[in-house]
Amino acid sequence: MLANLNDVLIPARKLGYAVGSFNVHNLETIQVVFDAATSLDLSVIIAFGEKVSHISDIQLIGKCVHTLANRTQIPIVLHLDHCKSIDFIVKAIQAGFTSVMYDGSSLSVAENIKNTSEVVRIAHAAGITVEAELGSIPAEDTGQVIVEDQLTKPEEAKEFIEKTHCDALAIAVGTIHGDYIGEPKIYHHRLKEIAKAVSAPLVLHGGSGNTEKDLTLAIEEGITKININTEISNAAVQKIKELFQEDFSGHLSALSNKIRNPMLEVVKEKMNLFLCGRTIIK
Ligand SMILES: [Zn+2]
Repeated sequence: MLANLNDVLIPARKLGYAVGSFNVHNLETIQVVFDAATSLDLSVIIAFGEKVSHISDIQLIGKCVHTLANRTQIPIVLHLDHCKSIDFIVKAIQAGFTSVMYDGSSLSVAENIKNTSEVVRIAHAAGITVEAELGSIPAEDTGQVIVEDQLTKPEEAKEFIEKTHCDALAIAVGTIHGDYIGEPKIYHHRLKEIAKAVSAPLVLHGGSGNTEKDLTLAIEEGITKININTEISNAAVQKIKELFQEDFSGHLSALSNKIRNPMLEVVKEKMNLFLCGRTIIK
């Protein structure tokens, strides 16, 4: 069944586990995430980013996820990932998304508060939850060390949530989107300080490439939503590379089928990890 972020993140925060948010961009990736969730009987967040909206029509994505979600009692969140445009957020809500992320992290804090509040006003009127971002999570690893000054500040996070009434907050605690050049570093002490200052669910972007130990520690410290995108893509691309090394010359549909299992394994592995050994009672 369809659910919003609050439906899946509030119990997660209370019980000390995290819900995986997995990026999709087409029918095949949607089916992989859905199949992982139903095979493990765990709630899941299916995330579609504004930046891949040129690949697949958002209305069709909405219809696909609705069709699948109606086949199960497992809570399925259809979430718009990283969106900088309020017009596109409205489009996602019209397409049946149950949750949206407004990314105002490149703006001043005052502008971010103003725009996030506007998104919350629109989304909440439709029963849609809102994730916001405070502090900037780099789009890619440039090899530059992230200094503490670039991280989300606990007091600012508290004020931001109080003023915007956003449902979940993506925080900058050292993670980076995409592949890491060097060793990933999560500033655990900062994460703990933020979790102490706010009660809203906290979101870790750039979850790919971090060690299991670092991720489970981050969950213990208060992270309840972890975004995984790159590792799913890497699993598929790696498989394609292997197939072409073996001189694959089959049909495109056969190629699509062969990358399914490697992606499915990544999603299932992360979902199990994020449970942190908890048993979810429904
Ligand atoms: Zn992100």
